[in-house]
Amino acid sequence: MTDADTVVAEGEGIEINQPISVKDFLEKTHPSAQKSVFDLWELEGGVGTSRRRKPVYPDIRLHCRVCEGERTFRCATTSNSISWDFRITSAHPIYRCGDCLEETKQYSLRITFADEGDGQLYKYGEYPPFGIPVSNRVLRLFGKVDAELFLKGRQCENLGYGIAAFAYYRRVVENHRNDLFDEIIKVCQTVGASAELIEELKAAKKEISFSKSMEKIKTGLPQGLLIDGHNPLNALHGALSVGLHGESDEDCLSNAQAVRLVLSDLIERIALLKQENKQLSVAVQRLLAKRA
Ligand SMILES: [Zn+2]
Repeated sequence: MTDADTVVAEGEGIEINQPISVKDFLEKTHPSAQKSVFDLWELEGGVGTSRRRKPVYPDIRLHCRVCEGERTFRCATTSNSISWDFRITSAHPIYRCGDCLEETKQYSLRITFADEGDGQLYKYGEYPPFGIPVSNRVLRLFGKVDAELFLKGRQCENLGYGIAAFAYYRRVVENHRNDLFDEIIKVCQTVGASAELIEELKAAKKEISFSKSMEKIKTGLPQGLLIDGHNPLNALHGALSVGLHGESDEDCLSNAQAVRLVLSDLIERIALLKQENKQLSVAVQRLLAKRA
């Protein structure tokens, strides 16, 4: 973003960027942020004094806790039209998951109307909170105290506090590097990875720094653990090794997000490999039993 893209809202000192869609605002903008949006409202009623503006709430894609994945959410509340004379209003639309019809999302918004369907939106808040929740599998790895720190990192990330989010995540991941290596070693043993790799992982675990650890691992990890063909430990190390000092808040936010995404994906993959292997051995046992 350049300075030219940014204007300051009159009297409020809040930065407003290039206009985005209402969909992007609802899905991707953290609370306490104000953005210019387009296609925010449509005209309702006749002409002159009877004219009214009606906010438009498009379908959006959100994580559904019931369906455990991304789903289409539709606005379930009727949008009230507002007299043409009022430029500012508040709204609290409720969205519902189109698949399970159970999960809801409520937003609390401040709406400022501008010309030709445009306007500004400020997000007071939303429930459930912004962003995909951290999975219990990830939190279990960290234990009670550090899981709380990790969730604080998630809160900071949700609010756009990049430096704080990154600091929380880094502290927790570094504290649990050994646990992460243990999990990877265990799953490598389960899926029958080479003895060479397992020895390298054990040697890597003994190193004090993440960089030294990564130097020890020469053999490729099992296919099932790779993210887009890449070693997730390398990606994690890359994101974590960025210095907190000198980086902009925005860059820290991107790195924090990368750390959380790679870590979550890696832990899900470990769980999946374990489960697949368990199912496989049950199937083999069943076949052997039949033969006998
Ligand atoms: Zn759902």
